[in-house]
Amino acid sequence: MTDSAAYQSAWATEDVQMFRRSVRQFVQRDFAPRQATWCAQHGPDADAWIDAGRAGALLPDIAEAYGGGGGTYAHQAVVLEEMAKAGVHFGCSVQAVVAQYLRAYGSEAQKKNWLPGLARGELVAAIAMTEPGAGSDLQAIRTTARQDGEHYVLKGSKTFITNGARANLVCVAAKTGANAAGMRDFSLIVVETAGLAGYRTGQPIEKLGMHGQDTCELFFDDARVPVANRLGPAEGAGFAQMMEQLPYERLSIGVQAVAAAERAVAITTQYVKDRTAFGKPLMDLQNTRFKLAECKTQTHVGRVFLDSCIERFVAGRLDEASTAMAKYWLTDSQFQVIDTCVQLHGGYGYMTEYPIARMWADSRVQRIYGGTNEIMKELIAWSL
Ligand SMILES: Cc1cc2nc3c(=O)[nH]c(=O)nc-3n(C[C@H](O)[C@H](O)[C@H](O)COP(=O)(O)OP(=O)(O)OC[C@H]3O[C@@H](n4cnc5c(N)ncnc54)[C@H](O)[C@@H]3O)c2cc1C
Repeated sequence: MTDSAAYQSAWATEDVQMFRRSVRQFVQRDFAPRQATWCAQHGPDADAWIDAGRAGALLPDIAEAYGGGGGTYAHQAVVLEEMAKAGVHFGCSVQAVVAQYLRAYGSEAQKKNWLPGLARGELVAAIAMTEPGAGSDLQAIRTTARQDGEHYVLKGSKTFITNGARANLVCVAAKTGANAAGMRDFSLIVVETAGLAGYRTGQPIEKLGMHGQDTCELFFDDARVPVANRLGPAEGAGFAQMMEQLPYERLSIGVQAVAAAERAVAITTQYVKDRTAFGKPLMDLQNTRFKLAECKTQTHVGRVFLDSCIERFVAGRLDEASTAMAKYWLTDSQFQVIDTCVQLHGGYGYMTEYPIARMWADSRVQRIYGGTNEIMKELIAWSL
């Protein structure tokens, strides 16, 4: 997707473009009009997940045999772009991330058990790594999973969990090792939360933006989960699994960043053409034109880099440093572009009635979650 008529993303094949048309229609018709309500209630309606499943917007890159769309990451990128272009917050990105963990490490039984439900929107997923004392430093995780017969007994709490309130399938990073042996001490355990004793969620956390997406704390107070719900044949693989799958999440953040920046440039271009000052449209002011020219250039440079990342990812050739570059640079760029666009709107850019103001607040967190941009620079530096 791009606003430059001459440029076409190479990964946007005919099949992908057809998929885009149907997702766009669905998002514009079914989700965009409900966004204000979702923001007010701190999360989407329950039936939105079912609607998204029916529209094929959930798990488009998971094999059809498991209920997915049978496409590639390009299809998932389309869903993320169309949501971002419509200003819709919906945790389908997290749903896709959890599906990737299941695809990569789930047993056949686990995949059959959970992937079709996730694709239909009957199951809503969350990924729970972060804790009050463990964000960037995931090795500091203190939630424990102690084995007791055929069950793990989960104890601890997680915070800032997207989809947390609605989720009935939570992929939890917990310490299964008894010896505090660092990164080989963690496992990922899939928790089916419906009616689970010892599990509860906190109130929605009040955020600066992203109001339509639910974010909350999760509490595990001796919650018993079958050992069979652990991902991977043995304990201790959790940290390596997270490191392997985080690039998927980071690339997805980059996809949303570019789509949002493109939307900001389009919205602002229209605004400065419509609004007049000193008897002429704002667009006639050289500063306005130059600022927008800079924003458009920066966004397009980002688009071309992102497209190269998507192509390499689809081909299984995207390295960790490039993914970190995409996450860090594209989200920094998104924020810079949107901030400039707010300025070009004048006072109206500060009013939440205007999309650009909401986009400004929404864009700030992109530089923080999924691994902060400082951590991304560490990852890039390791490749030097
Ligand atoms: C809206 C939202 C949704 C989220 N959703 C989820 C979710 O679904 N699941 C989940 O598990 N988590 C989620 N998170 C958590 C998110 O991933 C963390 O907030 C993020 O990883 C940073 O951790 P922290 O907040 O503990 O900050 P800290 O780790 O305390 O970092 C504070 C500051 O120190 C810097 N810093 C830390 N270590 C280093 C270092 N080694 N070098 C340089 N600088 C460093 C950071 O870059 C940052 O600027 C979400 C967060 C938000 C805000």
